[in-house]
Amino acid sequence: MKLTDSHTHSEFSPDSRMRMEQAVSQAIAAGLGGVIITDHLDIRAPKGDDSFLFDPLEQQKKVELLNSLHPIEVLKGIEVGMQLHTMAEVKSFVARHKFDQIIASVHFVDGIDPYYGEYYVGKDQDTAYGRYLETIYLCIQEYTDFDILGHYDYITRYAPFTERIIHHSKFGDILDQIFRFLIQNGKALEINTNTYRKKNGTIPVLDTAVLKRYKELGGEAISLGSDAHDPERIGEKFDHFTEVIRSCGFRYITHYKNREAQFTKIHLHR
Ligand SMILES: [Zn+2]
Ligand SMILES: [Zn+2]
Repeated sequence: MKLTDSHTHSEFSPDSRMRMEQAVSQAIAAGLGGVIITDHLDIRAPKGDDSFLFDPLEQQKKVELLNSLHPIEVLKGIEVGMQLHTMAEVKSFVARHKFDQIIASVHFVDGIDPYYGEYYVGKDQDTAYGRYLETIYLCIQEYTDFDILGHYDYITRYAPFTERIIHHSKFGDILDQIFRFLIQNGKALEINTNTYRKKNGTIPVLDTAVLKRYKELGGEAISLGSDAHDPERIGEKFDHFTEVIRSCGFRYITHYKNREAQFTKIHLHR
C-alpha cells in the first residue's frame, strides 16, 4: 500500500501558497496513496491575528469533491493549535464538525510564537526547548480530541542555536511523559518533514533515540507528514524518513480516516 501525506495546508490556511487541487495532483505525481488536508485552526493567535480560522464546511465540500474526482484518497483534516486559554473554544469548534483526522500541535508558548526571535530572549537552549515540550504536555492533558501529536520538535525549526535537535538524553523525562500519555490514549506521534529543512543556515536533526524510546515504551503509531504549504513539498523526504522510522523498529506508518487508525506497511527499499 502507498503512503499518505497526513499533514498539508491548502488555501483554507492563510499561510499556505498551495491550492487543494495542487496538493492532490502533486500527491498523485509523487506516487502517494492519499493526502490529508489539515488546515490551521489557531484561535486567538498572538499578535491579534485571528485569520487562522476557516470554515470547515467549505473546506470539506472541496475535499470531498476532489476525493470523488481523483484515484487517490483525499481526506478531511485539521491542525488544531493548542493554547491552554483557548481550549474550550477549540473543543466546541472541533465538536461541531466531522473530520477524518485531527492533528494537535503547539505553535505558541506562553503567548509567543517561537517563529519570532523574542521567544528566545533570556532563554538558553535547554530552557527554550524544554519549555516547548512542557507546553505540549500541559496542553494534551487538557485537550484530548485529537489523533496525532504534531511536530514535537517544531521548536528546533526556528531556534537561533547551533544545536537544533531535541536530544533524548537531555529531554528524556518530559518526552517520556508525553509518550506515555500518547500511548495510553491511543494517539500517534508525528514525524514532520518540514522540520528537517535548512533554516537559519543549518538543518534541524531528528534524534533517533527519541523514536526508539517511544517504541520501547510501547508506541506503535507514527504518522508522516510534509506540512506542505506549497505543492513542491508534498511527500518531501518520505523515502528517507520512512527508512529512519523503519530502522527504529516500526513496521507501519499511520494515518486516520473517520478518526480510525489506518496502517500502511513499510516496504523495504533497496
Ligand atoms: Zn504546525
Ligand atoms: Zn501544519
